[in-house]
Amino acid sequence: MTTGASAHESGNKNHGNWMEQSPVEPRADHSGYFPNTEFLGQDEMRVIILGSGMPNARKAQASASVFVELGNGDKFLFDIGSGSVANLGALEIPYDWVDKVFITHLHQDHFADLPALWIGGWTGGRHGPLRVWGPSGDTPELGTKSCVEGFQASMMWDVTSRHGQIPAGGGEIEIHEFDYRGENQVVYEDNGVTVRSWPAVHAIDGAVSYSLEWNGLKFVFAGDTYPNKWFVEYGQDADIAIHECFPTMDQLVDQYRFDPITAINVATHVHTAPSAFGAVMEKVKPRMAVAWHFYNDFDTRYDVYEQIRETYQGPLAMATDLVVFNITKDDLNVREAIVNPATWPAPPASQPEPPDHTLLTPRTQFINSGMMADLVDDVVGPQVADFKQRRGVE
Ligand SMILES: [Zn+2]
Ligand SMILES: [Zn+2]
Repeated sequence: MTTGASAHESGNKNHGNWMEQSPVEPRADHSGYFPNTEFLGQDEMRVIILGSGMPNARKAQASASVFVELGNGDKFLFDIGSGSVANLGALEIPYDWVDKVFITHLHQDHFADLPALWIGGWTGGRHGPLRVWGPSGDTPELGTKSCVEGFQASMMWDVTSRHGQIPAGGGEIEIHEFDYRGENQVVYEDNGVTVRSWPAVHAIDGAVSYSLEWNGLKFVFAGDTYPNKWFVEYGQDADIAIHECFPTMDQLVDQYRFDPITAINVATHVHTAPSAFGAVMEKVKPRMAVAWHFYNDFDTRYDVYEQIRETYQGPLAMATDLVVFNITKDDLNVREAIVNPATWPAPPASQPEPPDHTLLTPRTQFINSGMMADLVDDVVGPQVADFKQRRGVE
């Protein structure tokens, strides 16, 4: 495998079943991926699962999100489900570089962390707009544009409160809505990267799947869907194909507490049951199939796995959060990321404009009359004076 800064720099030599090692140098054969410690090769794609769970929030798995990094430096988010941005933050990547999100559909488990990325990314150092791509709906109010604009309207207090305090550019959202019925249509093309969409069959009209092609490598992401002809056709030649694989009907009854009829309907009419996931992958034959969107627990993964294996024997990964795929034409490596749960934002990657104080919305005299300024001046005043002196601030 070509990954690993230490692989390039270390004097350690691999002799097959033994290794010349230094007691003081890092070894290249990490069993995990430690963010911000490895080169990404110029021909290499890195795919990280940021969310693999269900609509119900849990600590073990965030909801839908997948992150794609390319050797040309470009980075893309596909879905941004609830809880997923904490995993993105744990990768310690400047928010300036994660400004592109492609949403498969408008179920909350696929987009509900948009505020965390938009506002959190803005305060964390993104200086330009967040750029959001997503499908139309059967009517205008069911489309991505209406959803994001409505959601921006609901965030008015938040955004107004920040303007004038921090640089303004990160407060914007650029919305790119496209026709959900487009079949393998190009929705993004730049810097050698092409993203295409095609319809998915899920709940109501307006869900899509995506492919991303770059440098002869192809990433395919189904989102939520019933098995469909478009995925089988346009997912061909995938190096990595991520497709939903719902919990088994028995799990939906015994652990999700659905009644049996609802379990059948949800598992086999709106989503993809594990054996159907296998049947789809048997037709697509990707270099790596990723079963995704189920509770991947010690007591649930084996039933899901066995049902997949009834219909598919090819390469398979069972997604959980922070599984990492390094993909080149010659190699495909699967590991887990080991992250610091207490990361701070990475340093911004661009020079910010100074905040425009004319954008400040002043508080009223009524609220300001409640300020205990004397108290603060007494206790904080000397600290501010000391801070200014230490930091060279006038
Ligand atoms: Zn859904
Ligand atoms: Zn979903």
